[in-house]
Amino acid sequence: MPDTKKVREVHLQEYLETVALAHGEETTAAKAKALLKSHAELQFQRHGGGKCPMCRASVRHVIPVRTMHQDGTWHRYNCLCGRCFEGEKGLSHVTIMQIGDARVEYRSPDYKGTDDQRGKNRAARSAKA
Ligand SMILES: [Zn+2]
Repeated sequence: MPDTKKVREVHLQEYLETVALAHGEETTAAKAKALLKSHAELQFQRHGGGKCPMCRASVRHVIPVRTMHQDGTWHRYNCLCGRCFEGEKGLSHVTIMQIGDARVEYRSPDYKGTDDQRGKNRAARSAKA
């Protein structure tokens, strides 16, 4: 049986190192992705995973996802499994994974529009500063 306390410390250390790397410099997509994954792994070690709301598959890394479908409607998920995430990404103009300020956004190549949510986040961020 693994020593769960030790596992947690290892993941906490990885998480803190990832935060330290992402902090201070401009957060690139790769850094944001690493930060999301590290945070989700730490949450998994502490609280366990989740269930995909679409197919009920077990999900290890619970990362909230928002998508804007091609009809302009927004959909929000507590988490998605890898298969449903790729499906939603394929159906959507915009796919956003976000925890706090760590954000990874995918846009379909043919989507040229701007979305209101993006503007709102910018406004909220500049209001904090
Ligand atoms: Zn699923």
